[in-house]
Amino acid sequence: MLNLSSFKPLILPAVENSLPKTFQELTLRNLSLYDFQVDSNQSGEVAALRLEAEPRLPGIILTEEGHISGMISRQRFLEYLSRPFGRELFLKRSLKTLHQFAYTDFLVMPGDTKVIEASSTALQRPTNQAYEPIVVEIEPYIYRILDVHHLLTAQCHIHQLASNLLHELYQELEAANQKLELQASLDALTQVANRRRFDEYLAQQWLQMSKQQSPISIIMADIDCFKGYNDTYGHQAGDKCIKQVALAINQAVQMTINIKKENNLVARYGGEEFAIVLPQMNAIDAVSIAEQIRSHVKSLNITHKASVASKVVTLSLGVSTAIPQLGGSREALIAEADRALYQAKIKGRDRVLLS
Ligand code: GH3
Ligand code: MG
Ligand code: MG
Repeated sequence: MLNLSSFKPLILPAVENSLPKTFQELTLRNLSLYDFQVDSNQSGEVAALRLEAEPRLPGIILTEEGHISGMISRQRFLEYLSRPFGRELFLKRSLKTLHQFAYTDFLVMPGDTKVIEASSTALQRPTNQAYEPIVVEIEPYIYRILDVHHLLTAQCHIHQLASNLLHELYQELEAANQKLELQASLDALTQVANRRRFDEYLAQQWLQMSKQQSPISIIMADIDCFKGYNDTYGHQAGDKCIKQVALAINQAVQMTINIKKENNLVARYGGEEFAIVLPQMNAIDAVSIAEQIRSHVKSLNITHKASVASKVVTLSLGVSTAIPQLGGSREALIAEADRALYQAKIKGRDRVLLS
């Protein structure tokens, strides 16, 4: 599972210590805030010296008897000083005087405001104020000043992390879906394809072969006297035997020359019965593969005292082949293979018959 906390929260100089667990929780308190709260009766010189000493300081918070009364950004402060007689007018006098000239609305937000919310509010200000620093109230009557550029940089990082997270989640989801799809098409006991996958695959290949006018073959294989096996060795041993037989059938099919792995399907058709779909395969080749399956399973040498066919576990197999025609049905192909299988049983089991 993806852990949100595994994401390194903002790799950003604007962000300070005590980071929250997830980036969505990031608040103004977590960003680089500057502490410059001055009584408005102080002279402009005090502010000028401080702004000069701290080039990153975004502005000045003015208070009167501890209460906030205004905010002058660095930019506006320097602009007023640079006006004719600005230095004479504003440096010696109180900041209150300058504020009377340089007053604009300012934004105050609580320290717990989420970065996403704060940047949205900041950007909704009139254009001429959009880049003004923001005052953050971190406790009652305790204010800090925040450069709007820092706020927007933090917002950009959050956006980037959210988009990375979304991408990772999407990839995980896709992998989980693929796994689920694979599981939904496998038989739990034997790990070969299940009946659902068999039906789906046969339908696809039937259509494909009908377009190409190529033959398609089916082998139905059934373990001989399996009821007797269960009765003699128990159901658990029966399960183990079914698994071994499934594996052997799969091996025999994959071992057979000229068969590409992706172009055939071994499925558990039900109980102790298996079905093999062989597209682009004529009857002679299909019978030869069925014979390989029969001899490979027999060579497992699984003792079977209750069998009337052999001393070991054996298969009976029915083979059918068709070149799909318009209006023809794949059910008929299965029925043909079933009939051949039935004949193989009647004729003594442990054999292959072609329909
Ligand atoms: P035949 O040679 O004619 O095929 O005889 P058979 O005994 O194999 O045929 P029958 O259909 O009478 O019995 C099949 C047995 O397969 C009955 C059932 O208990 C057993 N079987 C079906 N599915 C499973 C399974 O998943 N696990 C186990 N252990 N046995 C199963
Ligand atoms: Mg059987
Ligand atoms: Mg059966």
